[in-house]
Amino acid sequence: MRTLIRHADFFDGKNKRLREQAGIVIEDGLIREIIYSGVSDVSLENFDNIYDAQGYTVIPGLVDAHVHLSWHSTDLDRMRLDEVAVRAAKAAEIMLLKGFTTVRDAGGVTYGVKKCIDNGVVPGPRVFPSNGYISQTCGHGDGRGSRAQSVDMSPRIRSGACVIADGAAEMLKAVREQLFLGASQIKLMAGGGFSSRYDPIRTLQFTLEEMRAAVDAAADFGTYVMAHIYTPAAMRRAARAGVRSFEHATFMDEETARVIQAQGIWVCPCPQFDGEAPKGGPEPPPAPKPPNPFDDEYIAMSRDPVQATELINRFNLPIVFGTDVGFSLEFIAAGQLRDFRAYKKRFGSHNGLVSATGGAYELLKLSTSQNPYPRGKIGVLEAGSFADLLFVRGNPAEDLEILVERDNIALIMKDGVVYKNTLPGGGEGGTLS
Ligand SMILES: [Zn+2]
Repeated sequence: MRTLIRHADFFDGKNKRLREQAGIVIEDGLIREIIYSGVSDVSLENFDNIYDAQGYTVIPGLVDAHVHLSWHSTDLDRMRLDEVAVRAAKAAEIMLLKGFTTVRDAGGVTYGVKKCIDNGVVPGPRVFPSNGYISQTCGHGDGRGSRAQSVDMSPRIRSGACVIADGAAEMLKAVREQLFLGASQIKLMAGGGFSSRYDPIRTLQFTLEEMRAAVDAAADFGTYVMAHIYTPAAMRRAARAGVRSFEHATFMDEETARVIQAQGIWVCPCPQFDGEAPKGGPEPPPAPKPPNPFDDEYIAMSRDPVQATELINRFNLPIVFGTDVGFSLEFIAAGQLRDFRAYKKRFGSHNGLVSATGGAYELLKLSTSQNPYPRGKIGVLEAGSFADLLFVRGNPAEDLEILVERDNIALIMKDGVVYKNTLPGGGEGGTLS
């Protein structure tokens, strides 16, 4: 199957300036060649499908570097695993139809849904899975909803969505178990959270020794650790341990920003929850976290993370686009593209778009031999890339907010297969594969 995209003004995943009027040749799910001159001489008879991109900007398929395909908040306490699996498959389809052709899953029961996507059983993005997220007892991932519950009573823990580890030996085992399941990176809960009940936001979680054990076990398999983390003290400890990706990093201060810069740590700001609680979700909704006056300062700062934004921009810290969607299908449907508005406002349109394409690929490369998709490049449009691309009305490198409106995405292709096509007449040749 050979496909040609004609008249492509395209964003290559890095450079602000578009490449113009190119021909993109796709074969066997990969971009084989990009023709910059003499496109009109190419014989169209050699192609099974031809799409005309005139009037659109072609961009790489989007990467969301922080999702939870199967983590529906407290759902595991309220749903049987078969319902969670069906919802995870639906979540994957929603994400793909929003233009996300690759996601990094930040923890949950992911193995089965990833396998079903890769085998073509259900449509969905490529998944870089963490599998179960690892938490200490009484940490952010300890999903017990009541102090009356013992660990073995928690469905979240029993299902493997969360793995509790205390001490270096348990950490090594927990990490290796996720690697056994094919984890492309390891997810730790390295500090308090907004939604978990018994760990104030400012708490430090995992000792240096425990985190180093996780980093070492991951490194032995060629990969890295990402950590849920908010406060400067937690970030400094995680940086010392060798954690490579900070999720949220919302309350960073200047000293922490310098450490992040010096060590080239990735930051995934996840603005999803800025000033706004997730809507939709299981019924009845989870009980809110009991108020803790020690956290008031952080809760106020989280509503408008001015300081983190200023530091990320001033120190030019490497960022990736991540939404932390999960919780409910309604939330994914409403929220995943909406964060492009926040990225535009905080980091600018070009940086924001790079963070969801070529920048994200730089982060995904850290998985090395644990990369589930080594056959092609991701997030960039060049020879050797997976044929994951979008036709967009307007140029999101100039105005990222264009992507908030899903109708501006006229065509979605993953692996050379078209999943959405609203081009007039289906594009030249009108072929839908
Ligand atoms: Zn998360």
